[in-house]
Formats: sequence, C-alpha cells, structure tokens
Amino acid sequence: MKIAIVGGGIGGLATALAMTQAGIKVTVHERSAQLVDQGAGITLAPNATRVLYHLGLGPALEETAVTPPQTEYRHYRTGAVIMRMMIKDFRALYGAPYLRLHRWDLQHAMITRLAQIAPVALRLGSHVENLESHSDNVTLTLANGRIETADIVVAADGIRSAIRETLFHPAPPVFSGFVAWRGLVDTADLPQHLHESAVAFGHGRHINRYLVRRGELLNFVAIAHRDQWEAEGWNIPAPMDEFLAEFASFDEGTRTIISRPVRGQVFKWGLFGRPWLEQWSSGRVVLLGDAAHPMLPFLGQGAANALEDAMILTRCLTAAATPEKAFTLYQQTRGPKVRGATEQAARRGDRYLGEPNADSLKGNEPGAEYAYDAVSGPLGG
Ligand SMILES: Cc1cc2nc3c(=O)[nH]c(=O)nc-3n(C[C@H](O)[C@H](O)[C@H](O)COP(=O)(O)OP(=O)(O)OC[C@H]3O[C@@H](n4cnc5c(N)ncnc54)[C@H](O)[C@@H]3O)c2cc1C
Repeated sequence: MKIAIVGGGIGGLATALAMTQAGIKVTVHERSAQLVDQGAGITLAPNATRVLYHLGLGPALEETAVTPPQTEYRHYRTGAVIMRMMIKDFRALYGAPYLRLHRWDLQHAMITRLAQIAPVALRLGSHVENLESHSDNVTLTLANGRIETADIVVAADGIRSAIRETLFHPAPPVFSGFVAWRGLVDTADLPQHLHESAVAFGHGRHINRYLVRRGELLNFVAIAHRDQWEAEGWNIPAPMDEFLAEFASFDEGTRTIISRPVRGQVFKWGLFGRPWLEQWSSGRVVLLGDAAHPMLPFLGQGAANALEDAMILTRCLTAAATPEKAFTLYQQTRGPKVRGATEQAARRGDRYLGEPNADSLKGNEPGAEYAYDAVSGPLGG
C-alpha cells in the first residue's frame, strides 16, 4: 500500500512515523521549502507523549523538555493564587509524562526520526494543488505540474485545509472572538522567582507562561477578546506598545515577563474554529488533525488529538480488510472523543470572560483525556 500524506505539521509527521513503523510506505508532501522555527512553545499532555514515546521520540524530547512541578492559576490583577495543579506525578498517574517544549524541538525530533526510518519520505516544497479520488486510488496534482498516484491520501493540511474545502464541506474557518499574542523570553533576563509555570486570567484576557528548552526560555501566550479579526496567518509581528497596553492591568510579575521578549518580538494571530464535520473521509481521502477538527487552544489538546489520530488511523489500516472499513473504524474511534474535546475547549475559553475565581475554574482539573491510550486502547465506538 502506498500512502500520500499532505502536510508536514505535527499530524502529518506523526502519521508518517506511525505508518512507517507499521511497515506502510508513505510520502509526506509539505508545501514549505524548509521547516522553520516558529518561536513558540507547546504543552504535551500524557495522552500526547504516550504516542510520541511509542514512536521512539522519548529520548530526543527528554533532552530539552521541561516538566514543571506545578502550575498556578492566578488573579490577573493581584496575582493571588486561585488554583494549583500538581503536575510532577503525572507520569506515575497516567503512565506517560507531561512535557513542555519549544515547538521546534518537537518538530526537529520528529523530522530526525523520520529521516532515520524512512530517509526519502519527507518532500519539502511539494505543494499539493489538487486531488481526484477514484475507486481504487487517488491522483495528486502538484504545483510543479507533476502528477502522482497513491492508494490513499491522508490530508493533514491544517485548519485552512484546501482539501477539506473542496472534497468535504465548503464552510470557511470561523473567527472565535479571541486573538492571541506569543513570545519567548530568555530566562537569563528574568529574576529567578519568575522562572515558573502560571496562568494569570480575568475579564476576557489571560496569559499562560511556562519554561521550555531546559528552562533556558520562558514561553508566553496571551489571549484577549475581540469582536472581529481580518488578518490571516500566525506570524504577524505585533507592535509592543499595543500589546503591552492590552495587558496593562495585569500584575507586576506578568508585566515584567511580557515586556522582555527575545529581540523585542511578539507575534499575534486570530483564533479560528470550524463547524463540526461528521464524516472525515471521502472515497480514498481521509482528514486528520486540524484539517478534520480544529479546536481552540484552551484545553492544550489540539496537537495531542492530531497525534492520537495518527496512531489510531495507522492501527485501523492494519486491522481492517479495506481502506473504506479502516476509515469507518477510524471515524467511530475518534469522532465522539474528539468532539467532546473540541466542545470542552470552546467552553473553557468562556471562563476567562468574567470575574476570576474558583468557580470559573470548575472542571479545570486534569480529565479523562490524559488517560486516553491511542497506542493500545480499544478501536471502535
Ligand atoms: C495558541 C495555540 C496554542 C496551542 N497550544 C497547544 C498545546 O499546548 N498543546 C496541544 O496539544 N496543541 C496546541 N495547539 C494546537 C496545535 O498547535 C494544533 O492542533 C496542531 O499543530 C495541528 O497540527 P496539524 O498537523 O493538524 O496542522 P498544522 O500544524 O497546521 O500543519 C499543516 C501543514 O500542512 C501544510 N500544508 C497545507 N496545505 C498544503 C498543501 N496543499 N500541500 C502541502 N502541504 C500543505 C502546511 O504548510 C503545514 O505545515 C495550540 C494552537 C494554538 C493556536
């Protein structure tokens, strides 16, 4: 079986690793000519790291990952602690660790591993412009004019998936009402007491900060409410004065952190969702990750669900007699779980809109999602 994967993000690379490990031949088409460091952090909960460790990435990730002992939820203005979540015991509780990483460190580990086990699988600068699904294969037309065929196409082309638009549902992404800013701070530029993991929130805004890369950098993501948003992309440089003014009412420690990004660089982007899609496959094409089910970042589970999809889809393809049966099994296994996470992520965004207190954090404790086992859990509904 020959599988083409469209998209070399976290979902596409994980699919390539899982399928190669299962003996399936893959090609990954990534439109970017080179994969670049986007300067951001990522939280990987135990359900995500369970998959990554199974794919052989544990030792590489542990070289730079940070597991904070705890994270605190604090009142945005006073800094008073509202809730404390203990993290360091998660490996014992869930059988896999809770890791915080620089996104580039994750991406780099995935590319390096793929180069070891499938040296020519990743094709950079390969933009898939069109797909035609036939009864027993799919034709791909690339931007350079080349035409190729594959038995199956996995579309892992992200929230703005052109494949989803053309083959599945023409509804465009919908602005969520939230805008995000991100930056990285060199911890050498911060006093020791600010080398920590915390979320400051209240009145429609919140700032999540945590250490990455052996604690050498502190990543922050700041989110505020907005009525509308026009620009596209997640690398739009944000003017520092506008950004700092937006969060001027936050406590002194938080303001110190966000005023010291590396090279004075902060980026902003609008957070988008899409209407829920019931069916993720059409003929021989199947959606995965954000292309199938984008979710707001308030649960820290978007990438985790893309990783789970990759593992489950691979297992379905090896367990089922035909691709169609495999896609049905994939949908039955993933649909209800991902829908629950997507709805929960949207609800959690609302907690930041009112007065910050313990009530607004109800249900915020680690949930069943951390125990989800895509590597050896049951397939099917
Ligand atoms: C603010 C924020 C914070 C987040 N934090 C977390 C977190 O802490 N933990 C977590 O689990 N998740 C988090 N997420 C979610 C997570 O980043 C995404 O869910 C995840 O990256 C989706 O991966 P993907 O592979 O599906 O899509 P993407 O990462 O978007 O990858 C899609 C790839 O497809 C390529 N592509 C697109 N079209 C084509 C084409 N036609 N031909 C070839 N290539 C193409 C693109 O260039 C891109 O490389 C966060 C998201 C946001 C916005």
